[in-house]
Amino acid sequence: MILIKNVKTFKPEAIGKKDLLIAGGKFIDVDEQLDISYSGLKIIDGTGLTAVPGFIDSHVHILGGGGEGGFKTRTPEIKLSNMISAGVTTVVGCIGTDGISRRMESLVAKAKGLKEEGVSAYVYSGSYRLPIATLTNDVMKDLLFIEEIIGVGEIAISDHRSSQPSFEELSKLSADTRTAGILSNKAGILNVHLGDSDKGLKPIIEIVNNTEIPITQYLPTHINRNEQLFKEGIEYAKKGGYIDFTTSTTKQFIDAGEVEAPLAIKKAIESGVKINQITLSSDGQGSLPAFDSTGNFTGLAVGTSMSLYNAFKKAIKVYDVSIEEALMTITKNPADILKLTNKGEIKVNLDADLVLLDDELNIQYVIANGKIMMEKNIMIQKGTFE
Ligand code: ZN
Repeated sequence: MILIKNVKTFKPEAIGKKDLLIAGGKFIDVDEQLDISYSGLKIIDGTGLTAVPGFIDSHVHILGGGGEGGFKTRTPEIKLSNMISAGVTTVVGCIGTDGISRRMESLVAKAKGLKEEGVSAYVYSGSYRLPIATLTNDVMKDLLFIEEIIGVGEIAISDHRSSQPSFEELSKLSADTRTAGILSNKAGILNVHLGDSDKGLKPIIEIVNNTEIPITQYLPTHINRNEQLFKEGIEYAKKGGYIDFTTSTTKQFIDAGEVEAPLAIKKAIESGVKINQITLSSDGQGSLPAFDSTGNFTGLAVGTSMSLYNAFKKAIKVYDVSIEEALMTITKNPADILKLTNKGEIKVNLDADLVLLDDELNIQYVIANGKIMMEKNIMIQKGTFE
């Protein structure tokens, strides 16, 4: 049992100073002045700290990704410490460009491993390519019978690396994913990778306009990758769609026209997009090409979950986004959209996933499923190979 006393709490809405009682991996009570004594009760003095829900990173290449510059450019798997140091207590894994040497079996196994280490992990079925490579040879069976699989993705469209899916292929996959989601009480979301081509979101809009599939069946990502797609994304959100901004970036990407994620939140809100339609994800462990000052390719950097936390902080500190709104994009919104019903809020009966921040928004404590993973900015639960 853990009792956090007198802590300023954002659930993500601000609810003032509270005492938070955690037991059995859940929030048991959220109230004022809880006076409990119990042998073995761990008490944390929350004075001067701010409690927020554990972060949800909804698009991470947990198995590693990349490989777009040959085999040596395949990026490494995520480690527990990559998540915990960034306050991430829930991750959604995906494969990416290379669905040949990266397989669903390994993706699900990696998610199970992260769960054994104490955090929560889910995955999308498939990779960039259609028809998708599933675990059970049937996307519907994947969703119905594999606990960790909550949707399909990341499917690439409007990108030279996509499999150029036809309207029929994409709408059939959307229909199967939707129906499987309904049958399994999961989100059945299609996480869609958007590339740089002018087609942008049109393949999705075409399905929404010509079938019964609702716009909310899709969570398109990398919407901030260029100014044109960002503008299109704003219009798409105004029609009721969700939009996801990617936080891992490089100076070169920004110089080439990417709208950095914290600024994208600010601009989207100003354009009238409702905050509950916006999510951030890191694209962690994905590959990011790096260039020197004269533009020569110098190698690859790797995306990080830390970029998710940094974008959250920058949105508040630099772009004056409220802490509630910035939090929603990495907690309650992904939980709602992905139907992770025990996640995303500090609320009685939900999973006790929690981050305690100091005055400067630095991470001091991370609690995942009721277990302290980081204390006073020191990792106390190590990953298996760390
Ligand atoms: Zn992608």
